[in-house]
Amino acid sequence: MKSHIPTSLLVCTTIALFLLAAVPFEEAAAYGTTGSKFASSSTTFRINPNFVDASAGSASTQVDAIRAAADEWRTTGQGNFAYTYGGETSVATIAADGVNTVYYSHTDGNGPLAVCYWWSLGGITTNFDIVFFDRMPGWDFIWARTPTASQFDMQGVACHELGHALGLDHSAVSGATMYATVSAGSMATRSVHTDDCAGMQFLYGNAGPLTPTIAQVGSNHAFLDGGTSVTLTGSGFPSTGVSVKFNGSSATNVAWVTPSQITCIVPSSGVAGAVNVTASVGAQTGTLAQGFTYDNCRFANALQQGSWNWVQCRAPGDAGKPFLAMLSFTGGIIPVASIGAPSDPRIIGLGYDDILSTVVLYGSQLPQWLNNPLGLLDASANTTFGFWLPPSPSLAGLTARVGFLTGDAGAPSGIQTVSGIISAGL
Ligand SMILES: [Zn+2]
Repeated sequence: MKSHIPTSLLVCTTIALFLLAAVPFEEAAAYGTTGSKFASSSTTFRINPNFVDASAGSASTQVDAIRAAADEWRTTGQGNFAYTYGGETSVATIAADGVNTVYYSHTDGNGPLAVCYWWSLGGITTNFDIVFFDRMPGWDFIWARTPTASQFDMQGVACHELGHALGLDHSAVSGATMYATVSAGSMATRSVHTDDCAGMQFLYGNAGPLTPTIAQVGSNHAFLDGGTSVTLTGSGFPSTGVSVKFNGSSATNVAWVTPSQITCIVPSSGVAGAVNVTASVGAQTGTLAQGFTYDNCRFANALQQGSWNWVQCRAPGDAGKPFLAMLSFTGGIIPVASIGAPSDPRIIGLGYDDILSTVVLYGSQLPQWLNNPLGLLDASANTTFGFWLPPSPSLAGLTARVGFLTGDAGAPSGIQTVSGIISAGL
């Protein structure tokens, strides 16, 4: 690359908006192009995560923000071009050195928030560098991962500057990422506008949506009635147009964070157990098999000796109805017997309950063995019950299993809900 001689060095900037425009913008005009673009369908860039503002976060946080900005162009822009992250760098200079670098400079840029420099030969971009500045005369810029009203969005400004590197000039569309100015506190430019998409596809062609993938659902349990907010991490999430389903039921409030992260509200489920989670963009669907579990009961803590062990249960639709919880232990120490009459059809197959045997074995050490195993669900269809395990002898290897049923008003046909069996071990 040493022999390469750039024919021109071009500069484009993002200007901090500090005067509200008084004149309405005409939106007839749209994206513009710089006259230079990449020759291939990808290019590699590096990040120097050297921002100094505390609100910019750690190095990995800074890298995440700028990578998200780069991914947004392929994921939502859907042009046939993708930025490839090549790792961190300590480079902090503008140079046609063959390394496309994004970095921060603790200097006064004399106006712009950030600048994209690129080198072009015959309309082909051969190198680019993007620099974020510390300040302009009279204004200290504070960079942030999630900006307050007086801070600037690293991700959104990076998305704008990376748009210049693609070959996009400023757009006349005021909502576009490539619009010339951005306000403090705004995160709007981190998601590209349809005008930006049109510009990218003009330059590189339309590649269509990526197939989204889900690697993980954070907080991957919920009670049957859903309603909890979860974070999905993966890839290929565009800033608009992604839908999420749990076992075929649509999640609500799907909110984009980055191309690799979205949040949503878990829908309800009729049955407990592990279910598939899917993310779809148009006809492209990614599935995380058995990636989420619906509970109607869960242990509130790891089993412990010498203390109460609590179980939370919820049976949507059965508020105020009676419930019966059943507990069994296995593990070789405690013999197994039945607590209920095996011929009683209301005793659901839970294995065998051995509480009587437990009391026989450890009666002197078990002042209480089960608190509230039979009762009424509250108005939210919840209950919590517990059992106490003696501190000694060691019960290492013990597994406790809980079964739960509700709505049993005295006849087998009155049983409304039977839980799966949950277990926890010492
Ligand atoms: Zn610009």
